[in-house]
Amino acid sequence: MLKGKTAIVTGGTRGIGFAIVKKYLENGANVAIGGSRQETVDAALTKLPDYADRIMGICPDLCNPEAVARDFAAVKERFGSIDILANNAGISSRTSIYDYTLEEFSKILDINLKSVFVCSQAAARIMKEQGGGVIISTSSMVSKYGQPSGCGYPTTKFAVNGLTHSLARELAKDHIRVNAVAPGVTRTDMVAALPKEMFERVSAGIPLGRVGEPSDIANAYLYLASDLADYVTGVVLHVDGAAMT
Ligand code: NAD
Repeated sequence: MLKGKTAIVTGGTRGIGFAIVKKYLENGANVAIGGSRQETVDAALTKLPDYADRIMGICPDLCNPEAVARDFAAVKERFGSIDILANNAGISSRTSIYDYTLEEFSKILDINLKSVFVCSQAAARIMKEQGGGVIISTSSMVSKYGQPSGCGYPTTKFAVNGLTHSLARELAKDHIRVNAVAPGVTRTDMVAALPKEMFERVSAGIPLGRVGEPSDIANAYLYLASDLADYVTGVVLHVDGAAMT
């Protein structure tokens, strides 16, 4: 479904991002895997020996526009275009408002939101010149109702939805589609860090009767990146088994 296309996946070293990387590779794309450290990027690359000629690694500081532009230019240089940007890197938080420091709040804004702005801008500049592209960002189910602690996290995901709707309208004339995928509880390291009773309570309330797998989210990412979604832009696609917690 993506033969000949090139994708960049931030936070592609594990969890949901790694599932997106594999799905895109299986569907014919060239993929640049983004991570926070060279070692984790290298480790992810070594897990994909069958695709060595179609993958590369990058690890720019996602809040540094010059570093991101330089690495995106390197991807275009290697593969000839950038057709898909998956803004997936993220961290979570459960800190109470009473204990939240401004430093922690700024950090989550940087990694979950500012990075989406910086990477989308860098990719859009390249995509506009090429005649089009697709930007997809990982939002969250908590972008509907918030969550009862860690207020910085849902704040960033509401903002990712806002950026998605706005950029979809602004970039449509340049044939750049902009969408988001909002996962529910998905089996990754991020969720493994949750207290057991919280995980069990949240899982029990999912109408489809199970937590999500990274591949469930990657399937949505595949659809939105593909030509099947040619007329789909400005959408936040919830992939959460109808969870509401
Ligand atoms: P994860 O912790 O397994 O993976 C996070 C990824 O982000 C890693 O590849 C990591 O290297 C990258 N990352 C973190 N900080 C970074 C930084 N400073 N610079 C560059 N990369 C950085 O988590 P995951 O569950 O796979 O999460 C992926 C995305 O999905 C996140 O945006 C998260 O908010 C979102 N999400 C996850 C769930 C869930 O239940 N797992 C639910 C909703 C949304």
